[in-house]
Amino acid sequence: MKYQSTRSSFSTDSLNAVLMGPAPDGGLFTDPQMLKPGYIGFDWKSCLEMDTIGMSKKILSTLLPDFRDMDSLVEKAYRGRFEMDDLTPLVKVDNAWVLELFRGPTSAFKDVALSILPRLMTAAVKQSGEKKQILILTATSGDTGKAALEGFHDVDGIRIIVFYPHNGVSLVQKSQMTTQEGSNVLVCAVRGNFDDCQTGVKKAFAGIRDYCAQNGWQLSSANSINIGRLAPQTVYYFAAYRDLVKNGAIKVGDPVDFCVPTGNFGDILAGYWAKLMGLPVGKLICASNSNRILTDFFTTGVYDTRREFYKTSSPSMDILVSSNLERLLWLAMDGNSEKVSHLMKQLSETGIYKLDGATMDKLRRDFAADCCTEEEGAASIKAVWEKNRYLMDPHTAVAWTCARRALEKDSSRPMVVLSTASPYKFPHSVLAALGKETGGDEFTLMENLHNITGVPVPPNLSGLKDKKSRFSTVIDVDDISSYVKESL
Ligand SMILES: *Cc1c(COP(=O)(O)O)cnc(C)c1O
Repeated sequence: MKYQSTRSSFSTDSLNAVLMGPAPDGGLFTDPQMLKPGYIGFDWKSCLEMDTIGMSKKILSTLLPDFRDMDSLVEKAYRGRFEMDDLTPLVKVDNAWVLELFRGPTSAFKDVALSILPRLMTAAVKQSGEKKQILILTATSGDTGKAALEGFHDVDGIRIIVFYPHNGVSLVQKSQMTTQEGSNVLVCAVRGNFDDCQTGVKKAFAGIRDYCAQNGWQLSSANSINIGRLAPQTVYYFAAYRDLVKNGAIKVGDPVDFCVPTGNFGDILAGYWAKLMGLPVGKLICASNSNRILTDFFTTGVYDTRREFYKTSSPSMDILVSSNLERLLWLAMDGNSEKVSHLMKQLSETGIYKLDGATMDKLRRDFAADCCTEEEGAASIKAVWEKNRYLMDPHTAVAWTCARRALEKDSSRPMVVLSTASPYKFPHSVLAALGKETGGDEFTLMENLHNITGVPVPPNLSGLKDKKSRFSTVIDVDDISSYVKESL
């Protein structure tokens, strides 16, 4: 029984945790062994001798030990499916390192986890001997949706429904989703922003749980509240560290800082897990856009959602309720699920909670936080292109801006900036940042951006314009449950 809920003593094995998504009490599964020093004697140094696929096998069979045939699941998920064999290249840009996580089938970092999650789920069903079909409900701020659809389409025994905020994603992101092929997929727009959409889907989970149980459906999630999303994301922190050792930037054991463009706090939490597993991570810098709730939280200890929500050019980070922060709180509070449930109850009832000074001090040992305005992000895209001929997307630019500010204060450790999307997913914002014309549809803009920079367009994006849109439904948040029931 490896995984425990953050909100009660409910625990289950890794197979079941992957199948369930959130715990039945609404909490998130977390590994209690992470509370102890020297995580089950994990030999992290041996990872540095491996290629990324080899590392994935070792790390995933450690974090998800109940899967019988992890090696072959990893092989099938990754081999030949990314632009490069080593999945996530590390590139030197100026005085920092950029970890490119967007070289997968949909050009977003979510591909790293969503290439393997469907395989984990079908393997878990097979191993448990269940006859149920799986129903995946997913709220997306833009990138999870497409990466999940790509991973789950036409997988036997699985249906997937993706909900995205109407007018809350880029046109490229939208057409990536609405052109998705597959007989087991549905895509639906929801009136409201991502938080409305995510809250609506969480409610729908509770609302249709009984209905699903009675009708032979196992309900699950492809969001980063699923342990099967987080575990694969720890791998690229090890891969980046290995590459820094390989090219002589550090010796084994030296600390490295990581700056992470953050939304739902999944990506950066995976970095913290890597640290708990032994990787010498210095500071994890939580980078936010104008929705700076996490910056304020790490600065003041108050998590206050009662604030204006901004739509920015980095939409996958336009989030006020960062789900995975709950897992960090649980770890920081030594697994005290009573305290965590109390805080989460406060959050849902009043929109705010406050942590005590001792807990905040503990968090600040591992985390720093900063945020970046629209203007600063755009200026970074332009400056890095002009000086270094490196093209960043607006999410990466947020992290880059925060990373540079951190380096100005302290450059004693190497800095790795996580790059989470291809610039071609956001051609309008990137062209605007470069001071170029932004007239025309997004596909024209992709071409213009390519003509100006010479940076290749990923084929999965350039091919979109010839695909037919299949989905155009728009619903209200309160209608998610009934929409799901009808479509089953
Ligand atoms: C999802 C996403 C993020 C935020 O990641 P979290 O794990 O939600 O913090 C950042 N950038 C891009 C491009 C994303 O798609």
